[in-house]
Amino acid sequence: MTKTYKIVVLGGDGIGPEVTDQAVRLLKEIQPQLSGVAFEFDEHSVGVGEYQKNGDALPETAFEACRNSDAILLGAMGLPNVRYPNGKEIAPQLDLREKLDLYGGVRPIELFHEADTPLKNYGPGEIDFVLVRESTEGIFAGRDAVADLDADESLNIIRITRKGAERVCRMAFEVARKRDKAKKVSLIDKANVLSTMVYFRHIFDEVAKDFPDITAEHVYVDASALFMVRRPHDFDVMVTENMFGDILSDLAAGLVGGMGMAPSADIGDKAAVFQPSHGSAPDIAGQGIANPIAMILSAVMMLQWFDNDETRRAGAALHAAVARVLSDPSNRTPDMGGKLSTTQITDAISIALKDAL
Ligand code: ATP
Ligand code: MG
Repeated sequence: MTKTYKIVVLGGDGIGPEVTDQAVRLLKEIQPQLSGVAFEFDEHSVGVGEYQKNGDALPETAFEACRNSDAILLGAMGLPNVRYPNGKEIAPQLDLREKLDLYGGVRPIELFHEADTPLKNYGPGEIDFVLVRESTEGIFAGRDAVADLDADESLNIIRITRKGAERVCRMAFEVARKRDKAKKVSLIDKANVLSTMVYFRHIFDEVAKDFPDITAEHVYVDASALFMVRRPHDFDVMVTENMFGDILSDLAAGLVGGMGMAPSADIGDKAAVFQPSHGSAPDIAGQGIANPIAMILSAVMMLQWFDNDETRRAGAALHAAVARVLSDPSNRTPDMGGKLSTTQITDAISIALKDAL
């Protein structure tokens, strides 16, 4: 019996379609090598470009396809100078996150070559941790508030719910259990100052009791920024509030080569979106020089997330192919100081993949 995985492909705006094309190409090359597994791709137009054409950045047909899919591969959506008439950002990825209740942003950070990190004395695999970001509440619970510029003050609230904290902490422990590392989860908080963080910590500690095989620790967010730079090898899985996670994930990407190297997955109980951590990068769109690695590594995450031995094998092979190509520091796109185009680096990965599968 063949298991068919329905994969919705949303290229989106800017470099989004350029990088998703590369991931889809590699997945199509992998497919014939797998037994009992097939991929069915279903592409939809979404984002600012679609909004300008048809007035809806996330048309109902695209959303329905997402809801009925096994996974969603997303490039990037949004452009800095196009907004809704009310001034709000066109960010259908946030609508998707909300509608599909994708509460955990999972961002693996991995160093492939010493030349890619600004840190001294770190080589391949020596920076290797996962940041899990709560994606539905926290400080961003106030993101719909409008600033009253004539008022004497402006406030945003932090919202931590028992359900929200519990499920994301549980996700982090489960990620740690699956990894072949230290089996440690670090809660990144600010419990010395904020009552919401004392509450978050309390729930984290409760969840930790269900995972006696995994070490649990607390680190203040300010200290964690220092530790990520000073001794990133001490982290295995980190879990944190929405905005702390937003900030720390850019710092983390900077440790391993920048936004073009940072994959991510937005995961819920029923659905998941796999997308690079970066945005649509309109400054380099259409030039064929976008770095597809973050997108390709997001596809690796998708293959691992499907609960299937064959796709896990494919994920491992695609990861190994990326690692093999990046082991030669001249195989880099311009954002990382190299000369390869988007398709040239994908060609190299495609060749390495043939050996890895
Ligand atoms: P967002 O608001 O969606 O987070 P952003 O404003 O942070 O977006 P990005 O698009 O993520 O901006 O990236 C910032 C810059 O980094 C881009 O303008 C581009 O120059 C560079 N960049 C990002 N991703 C890539 C990539 N995959 N390849 C090459 N350069 C990239
Ligand atoms: Mg950004």
